[in-house]
Amino acid sequence: EKKRTINFGAGPAKLPQSVLFEAQRELLDYNGIGISVLEMSHRSLDFAKIINTTENLLRELLNIPENYKVMFLHGGGTAQFSAVPLNLIGLKEDRCADYLVTGTWSAKAAKEAEKYGKVNVIHPKLGSYTKIPDPGSWTPNPSASYVYYCCNETVHGVEFDFVPDAGGVVLVSDMSSNFLSRPVDVSQFGLIFAGAQKNVGCAGVTVVVVREDLLGKARKECPIVLDYEVQAGNGSLYNTPPCFSIYIMSLVLEWIKNNGGTAAMERLNKQKSNMIYDIINGSGGFYVCPVDMSCRSRMNIPFRIGGKEGDEALEKKFLDGASKLGMISLKGHRSVGGIRVSLYNAVTMEDVGVLAAYMKEFLQEHQ
Ligand code: PMP
Repeated sequence: EKKRTINFGAGPAKLPQSVLFEAQRELLDYNGIGISVLEMSHRSLDFAKIINTTENLLRELLNIPENYKVMFLHGGGTAQFSAVPLNLIGLKEDRCADYLVTGTWSAKAAKEAEKYGKVNVIHPKLGSYTKIPDPGSWTPNPSASYVYYCCNETVHGVEFDFVPDAGGVVLVSDMSSNFLSRPVDVSQFGLIFAGAQKNVGCAGVTVVVVREDLLGKARKECPIVLDYEVQAGNGSLYNTPPCFSIYIMSLVLEWIKNNGGTAAMERLNKQKSNMIYDIINGSGGFYVCPVDMSCRSRMNIPFRIGGKEGDEALEKKFLDGASKLGMISLKGHRSVGGIRVSLYNAVTMEDVGVLAAYMKEFLQEHQ
């Protein structure tokens, strides 16, 4: 490994070094054809191979059943906040959808969906995004077209370690920030989407996995690039797809496969996140993670320093010190402050070890 800055960013995030080397090696001359993937026609045979390989790897890694379509779309997770209701709100007559709102990203998705149908938030509103409301308190609507939740709230560090019971209603999940960080039983979902720029590649492409029978019900005004039936029917090639981002994803998926697949990623991600949570839990209240123990994210760990409210001067000192040691992007999201450590698949045990040692030292110096 070439020594590089250690990137704990929430996304775009660290990529495996071998992926960067491979992309570098192939940049000027992809596979002996004398041009770059950046310059390649999306209708060429070479690109067809790239997108097919990407889809096949994804199908293999997630065990995606035959009756699901896989799409590679533009517009990020945010485009899917609109695409999901535009395509699925009309699955049932009532044109309503149930949402679990457990953080910034599901809140944004619910707000966007209100443009296209009735949105029911099916649990008591949370005062702060630090827990998942008890499933016993949920009030699902059997007439809802789908139930929506965000599997990992990137800003607040709240992650579902269970699949919500949708009572037979189509289940939709935003897995942008924990996609391929652990195994998933795709057959429990109607639709899963994930932006690539955290666990599976770089910005520009969003994966959508959708059950075939849900296609074809889009609202009339659905923009054609967001129409799942059109995009799936054309193998994501209705218009020019984000070719290079798909290529990078294929390299990352290959890397995940070579490193043991989603089960191995999960094992490693548990170890990595435990290393940080153990320090937080053992710090006597110096480091404080506000998230309930039952739903602490393995991907994004938000915490304050110097007590619950956070001592901003101390937090700045922590960030400056980290930066001097070559660790960057540890600043918490501007809406919550404090620190956030993102530990996506490409972040290594060694990377986390450096941070853990620094956190222990900082604790000793300042508590
Ligand atoms: N969902 C989640 C869980 C996210 O973390 C993000 C981005 N951080 C988004 C959606 C939005 O993604 P994008 O910026 O690609 O639109």
